[in-house]
Amino acid sequence: MHGRLPHALLFHRPARIGKLHLAQVLAQSLLCENRSERGLACGSCPACAWFVGGNHPDFRLVQPEALAPAQEETEAGEGGEEGKKKPSKQIKIEQIRALSDFLNVGSHRNGYRVVLIYPAESMNPGAANALLKSLEEPSSGVVFLLVSHQPSRLLATVRSRCHALALSLPPRELSLRWLQGQGSTVTPALLAFAGDAPLGAARLPDDEAQTRDRLFDLLSQPASSALGLADFCQRLPPVAVVNWMLKWTYDLIALSSSGKARYNIDRENTLSLLARGMPLLKLLRFYTALSSLKAICEHPLNPSLFLDDLFIAYKEIG
Ligand SMILES: [Zn+2]
Repeated sequence: MHGRLPHALLFHRPARIGKLHLAQVLAQSLLCENRSERGLACGSCPACAWFVGGNHPDFRLVQPEALAPAQEETEAGEGGEEGKKKPSKQIKIEQIRALSDFLNVGSHRNGYRVVLIYPAESMNPGAANALLKSLEEPSSGVVFLLVSHQPSRLLATVRSRCHALALSLPPRELSLRWLQGQGSTVTPALLAFAGDAPLGAARLPDDEAQTRDRLFDLLSQPASSALGLADFCQRLPPVAVVNWMLKWTYDLIALSSSGKARYNIDRENTLSLLARGMPLLKLLRFYTALSSLKAICEHPLNPSLFLDDLFIAYKEIG
């Protein structure tokens, strides 16, 4: 890396290609005391050992409690009810404030100090505003690495203070070779379904793929009723159903407009046939409705009604 490093980097888009991993590699490279000519960490100096061990004094990882490795239960007793609270999915203001000593005291090793925030959009407004102050008055030698799956949910002022790095997806062939090298049996169709994101494809559990296939078999049969589809999905997490339906509908839209499926490449013929009976505008409206369902589908008030409504709306398209 030549020239001055920006004091804040934002790794964003798309999901599941290894943004966090890349940010960690960069963090280790910044802290390594014996970097290679290409600027990569050596993996064997004391700094690398501390980094890998999770205790480099010049590194801080800020993430929601819910992502942190399980804490010991000892704190639970103190707050009674409070103690039983679920770990937070947000990064809180206290976590950002807790960085102030780290930011104001110099480096322990005369090198960079690195703060990795993951995922950055999980900062609540207080936390984001607190971070903004640090980004506006950067301490020298401090590098912030923000990793975000949804940069649009970041405070615009935070986003504008960061140098954004949009990562691009590797070509499908390359990902397949990489996955095979890792001993994975991911097929081209599965990789496409994961949006060509190799880590996403590798993480898709087999039984999940089978269930999804069965749902898509049902969707492929024009005779399947809305309630039959909803019934099949009863025992599935609504989030998964909405995500699968988004990809299914995306392909129906793609096939009615440009003629190529993006996610379900193994079902292109069926989807083409179905798309012929579905007006594009109605498909687009359904897709938009599905996207807005994403926000509430983690905890629908009435899951069975939620699914009935979803599939009735789907069936009304064609
Ligand atoms: Zn090293």
